[in-house]
Amino acid sequence: MADIIQLLPDHVANQIAAGEVVQRPASVVKELLENAIDAGAAHISLIAKDAGKTLIQVVDNGKGMSATDARLSFERHATSKIKSADDLFSLNTKGFRGEALASIAAIAHVDLKTKQDQDDLGTHIVIEGSTIKDQDLVVTPQGTSLSVKHLFFNIPARRNFLKSDAVEIRHIIDEFQRVALAHPSIAFVMMHNGSESFNLPVSNYRQRVVNIFGSKTNEKLVPVEEDTEVLKISGFVGKPEFAKRSKSEQFFFVNNRFIKSPYLNHAVNAAYEGLIKDGSHPSYYLNLKVDPKSIDINIHPTKTEIKFDDEHTLYAILRSAIKHSLGQFNIAPVLDFDHDPNLDTPYNFEGKSSVTPQVEVNRDFNPFKDEVMSTSTPRPAGQHINFKKEVPSNWESLYVGVESKGTRQESDFSEVQFESEPESQELFESGSSAFDVGQSTYQLHNKYVVSSIKSGVLFIDQNRAHRRVLYEKMLSHITVQQAVSQQLLFPLQLHFSASEIEILQTLKQDLEHTGFVFSKFEDESIEITGTPINVSESEVSIVLEQLISDMQQDIPDVNFSATDMLAKSMAKSMAIKGGQSLSSVEQEHLVNSLFACKEPNVSPEQKTTFITMTLDELDRKFITF
Ligand code: ADP
Ligand code: MG
Repeated sequence: MADIIQLLPDHVANQIAAGEVVQRPASVVKELLENAIDAGAAHISLIAKDAGKTLIQVVDNGKGMSATDARLSFERHATSKIKSADDLFSLNTKGFRGEALASIAAIAHVDLKTKQDQDDLGTHIVIEGSTIKDQDLVVTPQGTSLSVKHLFFNIPARRNFLKSDAVEIRHIIDEFQRVALAHPSIAFVMMHNGSESFNLPVSNYRQRVVNIFGSKTNEKLVPVEEDTEVLKISGFVGKPEFAKRSKSEQFFFVNNRFIKSPYLNHAVNAAYEGLIKDGSHPSYYLNLKVDPKSIDINIHPTKTEIKFDDEHTLYAILRSAIKHSLGQFNIAPVLDFDHDPNLDTPYNFEGKSSVTPQVEVNRDFNPFKDEVMSTSTPRPAGQHINFKKEVPSNWESLYVGVESKGTRQESDFSEVQFESEPESQELFESGSSAFDVGQSTYQLHNKYVVSSIKSGVLFIDQNRAHRRVLYEKMLSHITVQQAVSQQLLFPLQLHFSASEIEILQTLKQDLEHTGFVFSKFEDESIEITGTPINVSESEVSIVLEQLISDMQQDIPDVNFSATDMLAKSMAKSMAIKGGQSLSSVEQEHLVNSLFACKEPNVSPEQKTTFITMTLDELDRKFITF
């Protein structure tokens, strides 16, 4: 049989390898930014169009390349950064594989202009899918400008796999922020579709954090400094009361490289133990310096995971350093999460001194005076008591001074509703006849609403059910576009980071259809003058924060709809939670609204909203006994 093995042509090998390096536009951004840093640039600009799908350009003022190097840089395994395997253990550059440019050039149109300081003219190279189309001399400033256009032009499957612009730009911003945070001594600018997303001047670390995440961040930061033989820590953690629902502001940099480490993240969380609520996440921006020999950054192709020699020690140092900082800044004692509002002084009493209760006594009162009247006639069983006759005529004198209070109590009493009040007459009236009319609902452990139906019992998960109700309502508001909004007395200013604003921007129209009215949409803040009718002013920031967090966390799939995400997220933050007690009217309203839904059986997250137990099932349970 003839030999069948052959070497793959370079461009095919490059395309395959490119798949590992370049998953999405953000991967290109990361590689280009890192190359610019490795080139010693002091100023780096990132320019993107259509979330990087049309253009990604990085311009730096670094050391540039000679004409030969410029050409070589696109070859696989062409790198100026290591010469032997030993160099891997003393790395102080971001790149070292010599793969990025070769990979990018294999799957895009690349345009490179580069010039070294000592040269008069620079080099211009045009490559399309690994093929050099053009090379000539060019007038260009010192440094390198590399444009990547039509990413994945020759791999349509890859291109189609890209997510919406909103999602892709978020990934780009993530990469940009990580690189910019690790290098405050370099100035960065980011432009997207012609407008400036970030402009970060050279600054100290604190200012860099604030410039990226918004001016409001400043007051939230607690410095962390620790200097030990194995580990140096510097940076900031967020005060516990500013813990967020999302994990979007959690950064570890090890030797100036962004890394993900669930283990070290655990150490940070351990330091916050007891200080933040479950489901909230502390922000942190921490720089760790370790001996390059003690880590292996070669274990992950995209280099965000590294292996430490002595993880346990790092864990312990990190945890205690953060604990110490939080303690030193006196954060712990001011916390009071399970705050009971009943213990608060009502506003109108604040500042007033307390008054000793006074007792008024009617000195003329003699309890024995009319005694005969009340004791002499024993009451026959079953006979109704007529208080008016039996009570001493001057009984009211007992309550001198509290008369008015007494009458008020009476009227209050008439308003009290009894839990067993048969209010459920209209329950399911318009719905299915399967429901047993006239039965009251009952709340179990403030979590489930129990209702009887003709065939047995119904258990409803109150949170999931309410999510379904709100979700459908929200969707119909958004699609019909006629939600009612309530005007706020004073405009509400909310602060967000630039990337959070970017997310809100993509949802702005849908948010308006739910009833939000925005009067300003700025770089770091928004101003709201109207809210949906069922979102109170105090809930606005919770709703929006949840929304941003959902957009950041659940990377939406291909058939992602922003509208759907918005409706789900708002339903989630506004729904009645487990643990919340409901009046019988509320319970019934919930049951009625649920069964008026198009899909009452499941929550928007496709979780079961209710279960039933039939009489047969109940009977069967008793049969064996
Ligand atoms: P690596 O960064 O792993 O070395 P790359 O493919 O990213 O591999 O780059 C190949 C080489 O091209 C680098 O080693 C560097 O010498 C050169 N290079 C790439 N980008 C720049 C730049 N912006 N400025 C100067 N030299 C660059
Ligand atoms: Mg590189």
